[in-house]
Amino acid sequence: MTLHDFIRAMPKVELHVHLQGSTRPETLLKLAQRNNIPLPSDTVEGIREWYTFRDFPHFVEIYGIICRCIQSPDDIELLGREFLEGQAAQNIRYTELTYTPPRYLPFDEQLDALNRARAWGETALGVTMNYIVDIPRECEVEVGNLIADWAISGMGKGVIALGLGGPEVDNPPEKYPEAYAKIKAAGLISIPHAGETVGPESIRSALKFADAVRLGHGVRCLEDPALVEELRQRQIPLEVCPTSNVCLKVVDTLENHPLPRLLEAGLYVTLNSDDPPMFNTTLTEEYMRCADTFGFDTARIEQFVMDALRVTILPADRKAQLANAYQAEFADLRTRYL
Ligand SMILES: [Zn+2]
Repeated sequence: MTLHDFIRAMPKVELHVHLQGSTRPETLLKLAQRNNIPLPSDTVEGIREWYTFRDFPHFVEIYGIICRCIQSPDDIELLGREFLEGQAAQNIRYTELTYTPPRYLPFDEQLDALNRARAWGETALGVTMNYIVDIPRECEVEVGNLIADWAISGMGKGVIALGLGGPEVDNPPEKYPEAYAKIKAAGLISIPHAGETVGPESIRSALKFADAVRLGHGVRCLEDPALVEELRQRQIPLEVCPTSNVCLKVVDTLENHPLPRLLEAGLYVTLNSDDPPMFNTTLTEEYMRCADTFGFDTARIEQFVMDALRVTILPADRKAQLANAYQAEFADLRTRYL
């Protein structure tokens, strides 16, 4: 068994992946046909080629078309099912999925659709998910407040956190004081993106203002040693998405990615795929690419998985149950690897 075989076979957890950004070409074709939305190609191959990451405006264009193809709860259920199929194929048993709710559908119908997909995934595939409902930071304050209300209404029905995604520049969490006050009062936690396209000040806002329990990306903390020290002491988990960072030019190449420096600094690092088909990756690929580029061995790879599992927002008993199962499987994989 090679290291790549080990990575393919191992049980995984994913903390940072977007539902809309996970739409595979075949799924997009189905949704577009269903809703009569024209696409630049009507073949899977053609869509795959069109998906190939070029630059940020092209990425935004694709994202926009995906969102236009989601018009009904049935579309959301299809997206959810196909997402879980992709996770199951990679042995990702549990995902904390970031979901940006469209405003034109009642949220309870959206959540019911996601939960139908989840129930199917649990029965048919043996995988499951919970949701981080996110505010796209470019949206108006009122919309942010609405999404916070929606997220709160979904507590106990799969929603585990409020996220904050979208363009980081000029859109700090301070833009949404009411939304953050609401979730705090309701006891819903916050997992914002920060420190991706904006530096340390964005991470400080995420920690201080948005009470982040984990950080989406967070890689730019390295620009500020005092912040690194705070993150290290508090062991705030970073949801690092290496290929996404290369595509969106947070770093120029994977070789120059700060992942090894984050680890050397004693920070809490997890590996994630963000918007995998759009960045021509998968979580499995992220593990392989990082292992190849940075020379990670099986022990380091296993630790990434177990570290991710440890900071999931799951009840302690469920987490312990998963950890036991994962440890047994890793022990078995180690014997086959040697
Ligand atoms: Zn993201």
